This record gives sequence, structure tokens and C-alpha cells, in this order.
Amino acid sequence: MKTLNDFNFKDKKALIRVDFNVPLDDEFTVTDDSRIVAAKPTILKILEDGGSCILMSHLGRPKGFQSEFSLKHIHAKVEDIIGVKTMFVNNSIGGEAQAAADNLKPGEILLLENLRFHPEEEAGDKGFAEALSKLADVFVNDAFGTAHRAHASTAIIADFFPERKYFGYLMEQEIESIKKVMENGEKPVLAILGGAKVSSKITIIENILDKVDHLIIGGGMTFTFVKAQGGKIGDSICEDDKMELALEILKKAKEKNVEVHLPVDVVAADAFSNDAKTQVLKVSEIPDGWQGLDAGPQTIENFHEVVLECKTILWNGPLGVFEMENFAKGTIELGKSIAEATKKGAFSLVGGGDSVAAVKEFGFEDKVSYVSTGGGAMLESLEGKSLPGIAAIMK
Ligand code: AMP
Repeated sequence: MKTLNDFNFKDKKALIRVDFNVPLDDEFTVTDDSRIVAAKPTILKILEDGGSCILMSHLGRPKGFQSEFSLKHIHAKVEDIIGVKTMFVNNSIGGEAQAAADNLKPGEILLLENLRFHPEEEAGDKGFAEALSKLADVFVNDAFGTAHRAHASTAIIADFFPERKYFGYLMEQEIESIKKVMENGEKPVLAILGGAKVSSKITIIENILDKVDHLIIGGGMTFTFVKAQGGKIGDSICEDDKMELALEILKKAKEKNVEVHLPVDVVAADAFSNDAKTQVLKVSEIPDGWQGLDAGPQTIENFHEVVLECKTILWNGPLGVFEMENFAKGTIELGKSIAEATKKGAFSLVGGGDSVAAVKEFGFEDKVSYVSTGGGAMLESLEGKSLPGIAAIMK
């Protein structure tokens, strides 16, 4: 893998694809700057070598030029976080951008305008990629969040730097973390899959059965499995058309010697509301009018034991409706178990969507080994797909 440490950037201009697609409030203030912070080590390494940085990113989903999606809104924040004065140009290609890039001195940073103001970006247009490539000597991809897209700046551009293309530190960390779970994880390896639906996780489950010793299935997905096995799930969320698939997964898991752990009890509610009446019920004995919205106490204990037995842990998806305080306990307790296992030496990776939000909200971010920055990109990696942004650097 070609990483930044393989190259000295002295007197070189590096075009860095970063993921500065950060949330903004109504006053265009950045409300979560973690993606900018995550790109800092790569930028600093290049500056410290004596090189210069040209930062390019998308922001939101503009249709052509739309001022509200301008990267000028995050310019000051970038400067603040990196701690280096940064120039900004109103376009990512063209005369002004080219002149600014040509005049860039070692130690300086240039931030380009939103790449997606050009529809050619998402179309993966070669001409647009080539125009971007003319700005610099070296290409660095540090945008894991868009690595699953074959866009001009994430994948196509790499062809214009056949000898000078590298992964940034963030990309490297993401790739290494996935490898630690999917390729060379210390046994026993455990995957915990929660969330609402089986249908959105099915490809992950199928791919992961060859790599894990234990599989915990939780959250709303549980009930498709329980109903398929003849259990009564009341009004719990269920995908009837996926019941056969659920049985197939259980059969395959058995053939592959993967131990599957499903909840045995749930916190059931008489409505999908934080104020609903609740009771703890066996997972397969939920009467009509009630729905399982969180893992029950016995389940939490069972899962705790499994987690502490394992040396490699992947967590994707909450164990309950954690957005509602009264149904967050299962997810919080699981986070605690994973934190404890990590402290004892296990490698833990949290990735893909809502489990990342849960980990941040409940303060486990620093207590697990790695929290992925890429939702869709992480999910596609776990599904076993090759990501265009990664493949373009490797080839
Ligand atoms: P996902 O994006 O697939 O990880 O799903 C996350 C969502 O699943 C969250 O919004 C949770 O509220 C939801 N969820 C988890 N458990 C349940 C459940 N038992 N019933 C309904 N929704 C659930």
C-alpha cells in the first residue's frame, strides 16, 4: 500500500481529496468539524516535508452552482483547525484556480470551491479529472467517506498520476482497520449487526460469515429471524419477505461453524414512543399490541459474555431504538461491553451509520479501537466490494 510515508513532499504540490462534507446550521456555521480534524495529520505531514497542499472536496448535493453549498462557508474553520493561513478560490478548475495553484509556495494551502458545482465530478468525467490534475504534482486521496464513488476527484483522477498517487493517513487507518477485522483478525472474531432491517444488512451478513466465529444479531432485524423460527413477535418490526433468507443465513452459519447469538428477551412497548408503557418479555412471546424496541436484561448479559470472549469485534447497528432514551439501554450496555473488551486488548471497529452516532452520543468514541468516518464506504467494504477510490490508488 502506497502511503504518505513513502514520499517526501519537499517542493511538491499535493492535490488532496479530502472529505469536508460537514454539517452546517442555518447561519452556515460548521456544527461537527470532525471530518476536517481527521484530515489534519495528512495536511501537516505534507507541509512539514516542505510541500504545499491543494484541498478539494464536495459539500452536500448541489445542482450546479448554489451559494449555500459553497466551501467558502468552511474556509475559516479549515484555517482554524489546521492552524495555517489558507487561500480560497471560487472554482475548482479554470484560470483562477490554475494561477493560484501555480503561485502556491511550500508551506501554503489552497482550498478549492465545491467540486460538485461541476456535474462532471459525479459523472466521473475524464476531462474534468485531467483539469484538476494539472493543478499539482502529486495526488493524495484521504476521503474515505467518498471512496465508494467512482467520481472524477475520487477515482478517475488517479490515472493522471500513475507514479505519484498515495493514500492519506485517514484512508490508511480506515483500510488497516477493515483489514484487521476482515482479513487478519485475532480469533475469536465477532460481528455485531443491529439496526432496523435485515434487507440493508444481508450482503454484509453473507460476506462476513466466512470471516467470523461469532455473530450477534440485534435491533429490529431480530424479529424477522424470530418470526421465521415460529416465534410470536406482536407488532415488532419485521420483513416477512426476508424470513426465508433469515433461515438460510442461520443454516449457512451452522455449516460454517459460526455461532449466532440472537436476543432472548426484549423491552417491549405498547407504542413506538418514548412515553409508551413497557414490559420485559421473551423475544418469541410478544403479544399483539406490543413491539420489541430494545434488548432485554438477559440478552444484555448474554451479549456481554460473548463480547468479552472475543479478540476482534466489529459493531454495526444499534440494539434498539437508541434515539429514544427509554430504549437506549441495550445499545449503551453493548458499548460498555465493547469498551471493556477493548481495554483488555481486543481490537474493536465501529462502522457504518447509526452505531457511529450512538458511540459518539454515549461517549465511547475513545474507548473503542477505531470509529470509521465513512458510512456508505464502510458498509460497502464490509459487503466485500472493492471501493473505486481505493482501487484507483492500488492499481
Ligand atoms: P441502521 O441504519 O440499519 O443501522 O438502523 C438504525 C435504526 O434502527 C435506528 O434508527 C434504530 O432506531 C432502529 N432500530 C433499532 N432497533 C429497532 C427496533 N427494535 N424496532 C424498530 N427500529 C429499531
